[in-house]
Amino acid sequence: MRLLGDPVLGAPCAEVTEFGVELIRLVEDMYATMYAAHGVGLAANQIGVARRVFVYDCPDDEDRRHLGHVVNPRLVEADGVLVRGPEGCLSLPGIEAGTPRHDRAVVEGVTATGEPVRVEGTGFFARCLQHECDHLDGALFTDRLTGLRRRRALRAARRAPWARDEA
Ligand code: ZN
Repeated sequence: MRLLGDPVLGAPCAEVTEFGVELIRLVEDMYATMYAAHGVGLAANQIGVARRVFVYDCPDDEDRRHLGHVVNPRLVEADGVLVRGPEGCLSLPGIEAGTPRHDRAVVEGVTATGEPVRVEGTGFFARCLQHECDHLDGALFTDRLTGLRRRRALRAARRAPWARDEA
């Protein structure tokens, strides 16, 4: 798992242009990594692959399960009220902060076999979709924080056992 401070997490990922067995294997690896880490979503750059792919297995606020993956996702709608709710990330283990996200999000893209897919989410799942799209643009949830919440989260990350030494 790539952690905060790794350059691959801070740069936009490239569109997928080749659909084949390698892409299917990448998606399988991502599911396995997400489950092993007990996450609800994972972006490809979190395992060091700078391609626009994410996977998810995430409940919404009504406890409905959403499971799938999106290749070349586009966040086509993000609306509804802004909700500040607890959010964490497998790339910042143990760090959580109240992060503002839209209550509804729609993502369009394709599957690993190139079939068009449209994913609509509300509540916690909408949060997940926005979080994963951010990853592929090189952003982390801490980039959505301001003021004291941001300073606290970044300080906790600097002091975390997994933190990288700053030069
Ligand atoms: Zn994350």
